[in-house]
Amino acid sequence: MIIRGTTQLTALLGHPAAHSISPLMHNEAFSILGLDYVYLAFDVPPVRLKAAVEGLKAIGIKGFNLTMPHKTAIIEYLDELTAASRLCGAVNTVVNHNGRLIGHTTDGTGYMRSVSDAGYQIIGKTMTILGAGGAATAICTQAALDGMKEIHIFKRNNATFQKTADFAENLTRHTKCSVQVFDLADTLQLKKSLAESVLLTNATNVGMEPDTNESLITDPGFFHPDLIVSDIIYHPRETRLMKLAKEAGCPAMNGLYMLLFQGAASFEYWTGREMPIEPIRQKYFNNREMTK
Ligand code: NAP
Repeated sequence: MIIRGTTQLTALLGHPAAHSISPLMHNEAFSILGLDYVYLAFDVPPVRLKAAVEGLKAIGIKGFNLTMPHKTAIIEYLDELTAASRLCGAVNTVVNHNGRLIGHTTDGTGYMRSVSDAGYQIIGKTMTILGAGGAATAICTQAALDGMKEIHIFKRNNATFQKTADFAENLTRHTKCSVQVFDLADTLQLKKSLAESVLLTNATNVGMEPDTNESLITDPGFFHPDLIVSDIIYHPRETRLMKLAKEAGCPAMNGLYMLLFQGAASFEYWTGREMPIEPIRQKYFNNREMTK
């Protein structure tokens, strides 16, 4: 890759940012396609987000990604939001369109593409999702926009429960999907929802390194062979939930390809070109430890 006077800048803003795989993925894709772009990661603490965005806008950046903790805080500095970003209240991709910063969310499209890429057809059916944080709301929004019939969200009954209930009501109002929220402690309802679902998505941190022995569902009686069990965690490659699901005869997948496809969608917004998925998948998204 040669950086020239004409090279267009794309970037990641996060805190921290140094651990991210996104610079490898995007720079490799630019290089394969011979595009005159570069992608850099910047560690931006929350108090500097406004100044960073103003600076990037002033120098005419092509676009940038946001990761924790900036996905919601960025919104007030943008000129426009897509419908999906507005519905889920989060932005992970910004496109600089002739000086106007447009906020998109690609976590949901990345997730839905990872499910269809694995060969599963879930549209028009019911799914159950654990958690209601940034990733969960992006997934629910895209799943509802894509035509899921019902989404059952299970979360802890704490201070943010009403906020999730309001989100579900708004999503139901703006799509053809019925979105309901239940208390995670209501195990009878969880079992009932799973019996009606083709997909279970864990969008909580439970099971992530270093607490790899944890799972929100441990009773094999909650699984059925027609249930796809999807964990959006990718450290470890196989979570305890996935292991238990496979032992119960369910297909299971991790979050590695959600990460790949959310990046691919951002790439397409900035360059107008499709990311060359297969070489990137082979080089940086080795999923060998995962078995379906
Ligand atoms: P977040 O906004 O902090 O949300 C975390 C969610 O997990 C919240 O709903 C929280 O519940 C729930 N939770 C945490 N601990 C819990 C526990 N002990 N019991 C029950 N629920 C619990 O985080 P996020 O950004 O959505 O990320 C969530 C997970 O997804 C992380 O593991 C992250 O690495 C992963 N992720 C993967 C990708 C990918 O591309 N594969 C992308 C984004 C995120 P409350 O609502 O009750 O607080």
